[in-house]
Amino acid sequence: MIEINNVSKWYGPVQVLTDCSVQISKGDVVVVCGPSGSGKSTLIKAVNGLEPIQKGTITVDGVPVNDPRTNLPKLRSRVGMVFQHFELFPHLSVTENLTIAQIKVLGRSQDEAQARGLKMLDRVGLMAHKDKFPGQLSGGQQQRVAIARALSMDPIVMLFDEPTSALDPEMVGEVLDVMVKLAGEGMTMMVVTHEMGFARKVANRVIFIDVGGRILEDCGKEEFFGHPENRQARTKDFLNKIL
Ligand code: ADP
Ligand code: MG
Repeated sequence: MIEINNVSKWYGPVQVLTDCSVQISKGDVVVVCGPSGSGKSTLIKAVNGLEPIQKGTITVDGVPVNDPRTNLPKLRSRVGMVFQHFELFPHLSVTENLTIAQIKVLGRSQDEAQARGLKMLDRVGLMAHKDKFPGQLSGGQQQRVAIARALSMDPIVMLFDEPTSALDPEMVGEVLDVMVKLAGEGMTMMVVTHEMGFARKVANRVIFIDVGGRILEDCGKEEFFGHPENRQARTKDFLNKIL
């Protein structure tokens, strides 16, 4: 589903991704962790072409992201992305937030978009809030709307970039619950998070990236958590700090 092959990227003279390779198959839930500034956001944004890369290749469902002939808006419409900050449109109701891209990007009718959007809103448990504005919702609820909005586009894969790190602690659980459910339903997911409880529960792989965008670990969850003695010193050090 996602193939990242030998990807490197620089900002000026500073290398932020170093020869990264990651393969994500249909139905995989891959958790990416690593210290601040290690290139996690850069890598996940590169997957849907929001960040150009200088070396290597990325394909999503066989489509080469960095080929100038690729229709990026079309590709992005099939890749759901949820960021740290929810980025809902503040002047639009929840329902309008859910339908606008379906209508403008996918060309769906108002009725069709609304039916799909409300179905997804129900899935994240927020049907009762369909006519509210984002400012009337808690951070956790806004992030669940953002997830419902991404799902309304019928994505083939969902990318999450620290979806709970801007939330008050009491709201983290409700967002993770939605993500756990999504994983259980077979959604292909690449998730940047430091929530190791989530990783233990649903990840099939855990990747650790170190500063400079170097992938130091890419292994199954059982191996990652079950055999700490096999982890690299940098990974152990990082896990000791966050666990
Ligand atoms: P992470 O998400 O792991 O915290 P990022 O991918 O945001 O890391 O950033 C990786 C590195 O790239 C950091 O050193 C950051 O300072 C640098 N960086 C990110 N965006 C830019 C930019 N637009 N220009 C220059 N450097 C950047
Ligand atoms: Mg980041």
